[in-house]
Amino acid sequence: SETNISKKVVVLGGGISGLGAAILAASRGYDVFLSDRAVVNDAFAKALNEHGISYESGAHTLEKLIEADVIIKSPGIPDHIDLIKQLKQAGIEIISEIEFAFREEREVPVIAITGSNGKTTTTSLMSYLLETAQVNATTGGNIGESYALQVAQKPADYRLLEVSSFQLDGCYEFAPHIAILLNITPDHLDRYDYQFENYIDSKMRIAQSQKASDYFIYNADDQAITEALKNKDIKAQLVPFSMTQELKHGAFIKDNQIIITLNNTLFTMPIQELALKGKHNTANTMAAATAATLLKIRKETIRQSLQSFKGVEHRLENVLKINKVQYINDSKATNVNATYFALDSMEHPTVWIVGGVDKGNNYSDLYELVNRKVKAIVCLGIDNGKIIENFAKCVDTVVETSSMEDAVRVAYRLAKAGDNVLLSPACASFDLFENYEDRGRQFKAAVRNL
Ligand code: ADP
Repeated sequence: SETNISKKVVVLGGGISGLGAAILAASRGYDVFLSDRAVVNDAFAKALNEHGISYESGAHTLEKLIEADVIIKSPGIPDHIDLIKQLKQAGIEIISEIEFAFREEREVPVIAITGSNGKTTTTSLMSYLLETAQVNATTGGNIGESYALQVAQKPADYRLLEVSSFQLDGCYEFAPHIAILLNITPDHLDRYDYQFENYIDSKMRIAQSQKASDYFIYNADDQAITEALKNKDIKAQLVPFSMTQELKHGAFIKDNQIIITLNNTLFTMPIQELALKGKHNTANTMAAATAATLLKIRKETIRQSLQSFKGVEHRLENVLKINKVQYINDSKATNVNATYFALDSMEHPTVWIVGGVDKGNNYSDLYELVNRKVKAIVCLGIDNGKIIENFAKCVDTVVETSSMEDAVRVAYRLAKAGDNVLLSPACASFDLFENYEDRGRQFKAAVRNL
């Protein structure tokens, strides 16, 4: 539009979200400039040229950036670097791609999901629910396509978004119609001055601009969240969910059933019938089903979706059953908390493949579970010493291995009919693998080769 032509938008960082933001800004008539410190590849340069977006790559030039009216910063760029400090000092507004896309499409309601763990699982389940209910919604954000690109190119009635804390840091007016906050456990503290409080504040930004007609679905069992709620002025209608307390309004568990009670609606469903197994997934499922209930999706449709959802790759993914042994890929468990829930959900004696790059792990929360559920441990990674030290007292058999094939072969030997073999590393993957996806795929390939 004509009013935007004189407004200069600078996009800092050319990842998926940066490209999306630049394309949206160009399509809305802004004067756009993209700056990436890395050298952009040919496909990326071609996309920018097609949309008439000017750019620099290989360095950031302060003189060019400082002309901006607004800067859209990639979530990967930390606030504490000099460049960002200088731009802030110059008084330039710095926002995230999520914030920008929201400002450009305020009329389409957003369903936004955040949390330290469970974002992708819950977003994927929510996406499946909306699809089954034939709601015209896009799914994006921290998962798949960028929100901005979808705003530019895909008209829809709803925008479903997975959002990370880094994306929320650059949000001010972003106001989802339905916000879901799954949990807050210490993570990424290097970006938050090593203050858990700052990270909590970041997650709470999902609700800061919501209005009284909006909903904030949150985990009432999470003390970080319930404490933060006391100190924040949240205007949205609060909808708690809990695994442990019976609620008058919200979602909870009673007699092994999920119960959602909201104003005039009552939804119930036995946990037994849920496709996603494990306590953490019951919590994720409750959150998504609560959102679906608020959207007035038919109960029958919700039930059917929760029963038939196939889950997400690398998250407690059932791979194969060989000689009555179930092989399970939970490669996405890159921290102790995620592994805790994986072990907790095991209903058979388990051979546990664990290890990788230790992130300062404290394993003591796992002792009791390992005692009860694990029959043998297969270590795979560079930091085996700490694992052996922690768990030798819980389990008789601990074997060290140095490749995925080796680990899977050892697990195969140790498992008897009726057991599980679980890959849930509780560690980062960068010692032996490119990333957690690569680790999970190598596990599955090794299992299939048995
Ligand atoms: P995210 O997108 O937030 O990283 P995922 O859905 O990809 O979350 O799950 C990441 C890991 O955390 C998986 O190993 C999964 O089993 C575990 N997990 C999923 N939901 C929860 C939850 N609500 N609480 C704790 N751990 C969870």
